[in-house]
Amino acid sequence: MNMNLYGHNNQWLMVDCGVTFKAPLDQSDDESTTVKRFDMVAPDPVFIENRQESLCGIVITHAHEDHVGALPALWKKFTCPVYTTKFTAEVLRRKLSGTDIAELIKIVVVEPGDTITIGHFTVSWLSITHSLPDAQALFIQTPVGSVFHTADWKIDFNPITDAPFDSAPFKELAKMKPTAMVCDSTNALRSGYSLSEGDCELGLLRTIQKQQGRVIVTCFGSNVARLISLARVAAKTGRYMTLLGRSLENMYSIARSTGYWPDELKISHRRDIGYLPKHEVMIVATGSQGEPRAALGRLAADSHPNCEVDAGDTLIFSSITIPGNEKAIDNMIAKLEQKGLKCIQSSTSEFIIHASGHPNEQDLCDMYDWVKPKVAIPVHGESMHLQANANIAKQQGIDKQLVGLNGDLFQLAPVIKHIKNAAKVGRIDITDAHNKMKV
Ligand SMILES: [Zn+2]
Ligand SMILES: [Zn+2]
Repeated sequence: MNMNLYGHNNQWLMVDCGVTFKAPLDQSDDESTTVKRFDMVAPDPVFIENRQESLCGIVITHAHEDHVGALPALWKKFTCPVYTTKFTAEVLRRKLSGTDIAELIKIVVVEPGDTITIGHFTVSWLSITHSLPDAQALFIQTPVGSVFHTADWKIDFNPITDAPFDSAPFKELAKMKPTAMVCDSTNALRSGYSLSEGDCELGLLRTIQKQQGRVIVTCFGSNVARLISLARVAAKTGRYMTLLGRSLENMYSIARSTGYWPDELKISHRRDIGYLPKHEVMIVATGSQGEPRAALGRLAADSHPNCEVDAGDTLIFSSITIPGNEKAIDNMIAKLEQKGLKCIQSSTSEFIIHASGHPNEQDLCDMYDWVKPKVAIPVHGESMHLQANANIAKQQGIDKQLVGLNGDLFQLAPVIKHIKNAAKVGRIDITDAHNKMKV
């Protein structure tokens, strides 16, 4: 979950306000299987809550839950305008619909490429490829220094939903001599370049072409690019595609209303899919992490009201196993294999059926080469990922790398300094606050 604060001249700018799911409140208990976990956990915002009057704005870089999910429950502690692009604004509006905040919050919809002054900060939005529409990097300038904040990204020349990755705006940034680059570290330990969504579409086509029975694909609900790829594969392989699970239906609806969904790709209603011959069916279902109450869990338990699966059908995981979910996924696979289904996971698949949305080593090398910041500040990862990202920056000739922990402050001017434990941080449970907001 992400919450960054940039400070200058007694003012603060927040970048992202994310959530994490099924987590303990003490970060050191993350690996434990016995400690109590809460459904929705947010960063403790007490530091900025105590300085609310100095917070001039909140910028949301993209619509993933780890970047926007805590805002509905926490916004009343901040009460300042939210700046974001069209797709993310629509996701946020739907989260807030029916709540009292919907009337109070000011959402400023920004166009990619815009530069806006927010308090003492001049913020420019730069389109960057990730795994959902409209992801943005930021260039934040003050009179004494500037930061290139990558947010989540990878180099993708065929991202399906947006224009291909373009290095030109990042090469331009070098001319502004950025003080620091705050950069995604998720896949810093992986060599080569990150895979493209386009490669993934081809791999899914090759995999699905071979199947005779029903095809069931599970993927992350927010991956609009993957949904579009699957709809294209369905059309090419003579299958009707339906969506099972609220998050998938919601994302499809948002993609349509914001113009990201190609009109020619039709989705069938789940009620109609049961009447079709098996070889004409493609079901896209939530539940890739083995959640028993999600659509895939209900299919495995024969308790879905609209669809069923049986011997000869194929389940494709167009997803990865998030650490900690291995047992739940294995149990579900065992149940489905007992029924006679074939299960294909991305880790052992013959073709590419999943692509991560984060930069590998080579993506990082290129970006450091283009932007040439004075300081590299790796974020978005555990210590080993941050350290790996810092090592790559060093190799690429970036003068200084600052690797810290939650609550640390990186002073960038007048002198560069790493101040540990500068802000009180922690985790809070927002499950109740979130549930109460829903009417
Ligand atoms: Zn993301
Ligand atoms: Zn993220």
